[in-house]
Amino acid sequence: MADNTTRIKYRPATELVYVDNSDGKGPKDNYNAASMPIYQTATFKQQSSTQMGEYDYSRSGNPTRSHVENHLAKIMSAKRAFAVNSGMTALDVITRLVKANEEVIAGNDLYGGTNRLLSFLATHNNVKTHHIDTTNSEAIIPYLSEKTRLVLLETPTNPLMKIADIPRISEIVHERCPNALVVVDNTMMSPYLQRPLELGADIVYHSGTKYLSGHHDLMAGVVAVKDDAIADKIYFTINATGVGLGPFDCWLLMRGVKTLAVRMDRQQASAMKIADFLQAHNFKVHYPGLKTHPQYELHAKMSAGPGAVLSFETGDVELSEKLVELTRLWGISVSFGCVNSLISMPCRMSHASIPAAVRAERAMPEDLIRLCVGIEDVEDLLEDLYHALTTSGALKLAN
Ligand SMILES: *Cc1c(COP(=O)(O)O)cnc(C)c1O
Repeated sequence: MADNTTRIKYRPATELVYVDNSDGKGPKDNYNAASMPIYQTATFKQQSSTQMGEYDYSRSGNPTRSHVENHLAKIMSAKRAFAVNSGMTALDVITRLVKANEEVIAGNDLYGGTNRLLSFLATHNNVKTHHIDTTNSEAIIPYLSEKTRLVLLETPTNPLMKIADIPRISEIVHERCPNALVVVDNTMMSPYLQRPLELGADIVYHSGTKYLSGHHDLMAGVVAVKDDAIADKIYFTINATGVGLGPFDCWLLMRGVKTLAVRMDRQQASAMKIADFLQAHNFKVHYPGLKTHPQYELHAKMSAGPGAVLSFETGDVELSEKLVELTRLWGISVSFGCVNSLISMPCRMSHASIPAAVRAERAMPEDLIRLCVGIEDVEDLLEDLYHALTTSGALKLAN
């Protein structure tokens, strides 16, 4: 087995494509295939009834899955990573570390599906979640107790792009509650832009459906940890419940990850131009790449860039609805992270399951429009947006 400590550590864009098995951890392929084959098999024959091979049953392990998991662990700065069926599966597997009557502390501006799963835990397992404003690190202190098991963060949040201070919150939690684990949903940033395990978090997870795969042709989730004992518990749940990602989807996920840097570089550069354009036209824009973002510096300290999702307010719900329907290039769709640009109204679409009163309490504007910038020519994206802004009348209102 090669010594991992002598291996050259390359820059993130290189690590994404440099697939190297010299650490001896990865599965071996007999023919040195440049792309790990899809081991589309449920079972593996054994040499004898007593001599077991490396793999026996695909629920427990599959070479295509091990291959992408090893690669993910490397790019996420994790000890071990696991590929599962969806981002929500990733969270479900993590929440099984929580026992009945223990507690979770989470943000108050979470992904809708995350809220739904946490509510289920509250009603079925008596696991209470305290929702706090994670932009204020100290706000967590009154809720920490010996019952706290998970502290769940999203940064930036979606769609309001609020930032949580991962190093500071991790420090507070670890100091006061040694049994609590800091968990970060890093879907918005991708491992290319932000690696929470390097910032003090214990567990990171992703919806692989978004930037990791990048083409909206796959559902996947990833969980990564830096501690072997936690890794063993996560693996136990994945094997016990059978939620490991299937071989073909593992292969697709691996293919997507290799182009993450080029996609994200371009998507982010275009998002920056679009944010500047909207701000220059007097719209209220939420994007951590803008110097006017209240936590611009904190975000810059933790990450390598602001990403490619932004939101803005028109000042009028009906205008926003009209505008969204008038775009041609921007597809009306939930989700993000795709090579195509998408537009949505979170309060009508992705966040509609959050009751209106709760949305108001969280200061989520009903007229908010979310843009998820793809890889098209940014001039076309700007022209299409300008056309929709002028035709809907939103531009006149803002000026
Ligand atoms: C999409 C998403 C999820 C859920 O992932 P799925 O793959 O859809 O199950 C979780 N968190 C965030 C931030 C997401 O955007």
